[in-house]
Amino acid sequence: RAKTNQRGGYEYFTRNMGVEIRERVLLMHALRAAFEHERLFLVYQPQIDMRTGKALGAEALLRWRTDEGKFIPPDQFIPIAEYSGLIVDIGEWVLRSALYELVHLRSIGYTEFQMAINVSQAQFSHPLFMQSLHKALQDTKAPPEFVELEITESMAMKDPDLLIKTLHQIKQLGVNISIDDFGTGFSSLSHLQKLDVDKLKIDRAFVNDIQQDASEGSIAKMIVQLGQNLGLTIIAEGVENQMQANTLQEYGCFLAQGYFYAKPLTQQDLRTWLQQRTQPQLSSNQS
Ligand code: C2E
Ligand code: MG
Ligand code: MG
Ligand code: MG
Repeated sequence: RAKTNQRGGYEYFTRNMGVEIRERVLLMHALRAAFEHERLFLVYQPQIDMRTGKALGAEALLRWRTDEGKFIPPDQFIPIAEYSGLIVDIGEWVLRSALYELVHLRSIGYTEFQMAINVSQAQFSHPLFMQSLHKALQDTKAPPEFVELEITESMAMKDPDLLIKTLHQIKQLGVNISIDDFGTGFSSLSHLQKLDVDKLKIDRAFVNDIQQDASEGSIAKMIVQLGQNLGLTIIAEGVENQMQANTLQEYGCFLAQGYFYAKPLTQQDLRTWLQQRTQPQLSSNQS
């Protein structure tokens, strides 16, 4: 009978699942400890206007270095943080830390600098999210118009009404919103029109598709056109070479984030990087 086969398959499945769950639990405990012992930190990847080379702002990205000096990538630990609920506390810490850095950069003269911060579904749908955002802005004195929250398309699918309502409240605070990894989440276009967002971030995969053969970049091109039709700002993620930068600009996308311009930088490296490129826009007394 087929039963033995099934049973074998089942045992195989649970055995592997056991390992996976055990690993996940271990990682979750390690993550909590890392957070409590301040082993998490932020790096900042500059966002560039390709026409001028000017840095407009940066995206804050979370990093975890273990006591052994090993880096665990966010794609691995963010899902665990979400699954375990740890993301609520971690996310609030990310928000506050990034806002403090924004305020610091302003204090040394980068008064037009924008800070983009990732927000995950579990954080966003938490009943106290708006309150903690409001308080973080108040405590840090960060100007909301220079703050941008990155949400993902998939959030639009989970609970559209809650999303629309929350986005509206965020906009009322003066904070900007972008859709991260755009094009990968299959959200409907009619949906997008209803959402009060400012910016689309073209997912890295579609930028990567831009190769010598012009037809390969067609999804990126479509997203640029869509964004233009909806009156949204468009930024490309993962720009790695000059050819991609040129092609994107031909499409009409002028903002970029990617290794070609800058990798994610530590707090100190970002400050140095900015200072080496430009003198801060200090309001001068000379006229
Ligand atoms: P994301 O928000 O889409 O961030 C962009 C990712 O692309 C970053 O990966 C960045 O390092 C990478 N990247 C940028 N330019 C290039 C490039 O030219 N080439 C390549 N190969 N990669 C590039 P990272 O830092 O590993 O983060 C991965 C994801 O983890 C993020 O994707 C985001 O979804 C999540 N994440 C990171 N930090 C946070 C956080 O503070 N909160 C939340 N909720 N999620 C976060
Ligand atoms: Mg992002
Ligand atoms: Mg992205
Ligand atoms: Mg991503």
